[in-house]
Amino acid sequence: MDAIRIRDLEIYCHHGVFKEENVLGQKFLVSLDLYMDTRPAGETDDLSQSINYAEVAHFVKQEMEKKNYQLIEAAAEQLARQILLTFSLVERVKVEIKKPWAPILLPLDTVSVCIERGWQTAYLSIGSNLGDREAHLQTALDALRRRQEIRHVRVSDIIETEPYGYTEQPTFLNAAVELQTIAGPEGLLQICQQIEEEGKRERTVHWGPRTIDLDILLFGRDTIQNEKLTIPHREMHKRRFVLEPLAQIAPWAMHPVLGRRVQEMLEDLEDDGQ
Ligand code: ADP
Ligand code: MG
Repeated sequence: MDAIRIRDLEIYCHHGVFKEENVLGQKFLVSLDLYMDTRPAGETDDLSQSINYAEVAHFVKQEMEKKNYQLIEAAAEQLARQILLTFSLVERVKVEIKKPWAPILLPLDTVSVCIERGWQTAYLSIGSNLGDREAHLQTALDALRRRQEIRHVRVSDIIETEPYGYTEQPTFLNAAVELQTIAGPEGLLQICQQIEEEGKRERTVHWGPRTIDLDILLFGRDTIQNEKLTIPHREMHKRRFVLEPLAQIAPWAMHPVLGRRVQEMLEDLEDDGQ
């Protein structure tokens, strides 16, 4: 992807584990790769279609001086986050913070932390089958839209479906959601669980009645398998109530393990007579 790059911007500030570092301060060198599409600016020669690197450099200085962190890991994390939140044309950013005067009682050139963060597209399935189901879905969507680390939320139509698994329960309202996030998969799961908590979801029966359920279906092309998270969602390719609304907003989205697009997975289900 195209990038605007800033190398070794020199900033004097006070990050560090040692008190001396916080009091005396020291020199830090910040390098950035701002990944974005530079074609609109390239073709029009118009600064308003691009990012002003002078503005970014002054922003970096201000952010680096705003707060003292013990770790350059933390300084880099915050800096990447604030750049992504402030300069909306930046899709991804690589941040390197070098510490040439790191007090380790040995000569060294620099020590540095280098991270890459960005906006990624994710898809969720949301469902409710208790109380005012539509209101629960709307509350969850509002909560997603309010989060700083989420943008560009798009929602399918809401469909009504028969319960799945434990069938002695009311019918569901389901919808699919597309969003962009800088939270990362675990961060997005936390956000979903927090919204479920706020919706006072009861976790008594597995697959049982719930005021609100938010599941992560796809997260970019990531594949994750651990005790907290399975991405792509384990059951998504088998569930019509997931694929039907998802096909409305993202028919071409790709399942990175099965190598099938959403529309194809839906057609596979129909061929199986489901
Ligand atoms: P279900 O959605 O299967 O009906 P729950 O909503 O109660 O069940 O989720 C149970 C657990 O599933 C959660 O605590 C979460 O850690 C885990 N989980 C694994 N993969 C995902 C995913 N892709 N999206 C949401 N939760 C997931
Ligand atoms: Mg769930």
